[in-house]
Amino acid sequence: MSHRILNFSAGPAILPEPVLAEAADGVREINGSGMSLLEVSHRGKDYEAIHADAESRLLKTLSLNPEEYATLFLQGGASQQFAMLAQNFLKPGVSADYIVSGDWGAKALSEAKFYGDAREAASSKGEKYSELPRSFTRTPGARYVHITTNNTIEGTEYFDLPETGETPLVADTSSDFLALRRDYSKFAFLYGGAQKNVGPAGVVLAVARKSFLAEANTDIPKIYSYKTFLDNRSLYNTPPTFAIYVVGLVLKWIESEGGLEAIEVRNKRKAAILYNALDELTPFYGPTVTNKSDRSLMNVTWRLADESLEPELLAEAKKAGMDGLKGHRSVGGFRASIYNAFPEKGVQALADLLRDFAGRKG
Ligand SMILES: *Cc1c(COP(=O)(O)O)cnc(C)c1O
Repeated sequence: MSHRILNFSAGPAILPEPVLAEAADGVREINGSGMSLLEVSHRGKDYEAIHADAESRLLKTLSLNPEEYATLFLQGGASQQFAMLAQNFLKPGVSADYIVSGDWGAKALSEAKFYGDAREAASSKGEKYSELPRSFTRTPGARYVHITTNNTIEGTEYFDLPETGETPLVADTSSDFLALRRDYSKFAFLYGGAQKNVGPAGVVLAVARKSFLAEANTDIPKIYSYKTFLDNRSLYNTPPTFAIYVVGLVLKWIESEGGLEAIEVRNKRKAAILYNALDELTPFYGPTVTNKSDRSLMNVTWRLADESLEPELLAEAKKAGMDGLKGHRSVGGFRASIYNAFPEKGVQALADLLRDFAGRKG
């Protein structure tokens, strides 16, 4: 690629360059077949091999046992999962607990209320979601507890998962999918739009404990039933073949980089470069997440004490080849999304700019 800017976009977001190059080749021709990947049947052998590899590689990357867990490729974005999850597990009179740690979690809860007794078990809305809720109220017999592992808009992330006892833990992991090691076997179900950290828009990756899906509702249309996707290996209807292909390439890239262990080390180092600069330059800058143990590795958010300087900083960043730094419209300020593929030297360049700008204006 001739010219790459520093793309801090929250999503769709930066992908590894070797993945983009290989994906471009696959669009031209796949496996010497005389066809583009975009032209081959989802039931043909070329695509079948890609599909099977991505399915199993995802479980392997998360250290999950394929006897116990399955990969599902879904569509409609994480937003559709807010409704589909509840449609599969709730009914009037059946409850689920939602820990609301950000705007996306609040949306998940409000969609679930169409299907059953979805409750707000905790919320940090009073703190403008600048920290994670410390505890939650458990509803006896709740079908599941839902969390958002990384709050893309506000910049918080779970590192210790809440204890839910016997109640299955379900998570929206859209913006920290494959960003760090966790004990993923603690989740009964996790889902995320690929476009934040794992691939292009158009596919939702879900990982499900099979025994959890075995208890899902059956009185719903087939196309909305997780069991349909499980029983047909996400090939009941036409899956988003291109997006799954690119996800497969990203999974191979992660493996070649040393797996989640190496990715996590790098992500921690990258985030520390920015948080250290922001802490050092407080109060000129104010990191919006003050509780250090809640700070996201993926989305770093901050404000300027003097908000009138914000357009100037954005303009300087743009001139330095940086894009996507404007904070979400609901929060304001700045947000640097530094997903897996974001280069460490780009993070360093932003930290240098922040120091330089504060030196001149502070
Ligand atoms: C982006 C995002 C969503 C929404 O994803 P879509 O794929 O656009 O529906 C949901 N949850 C989180 C945590 C997100 O970051």
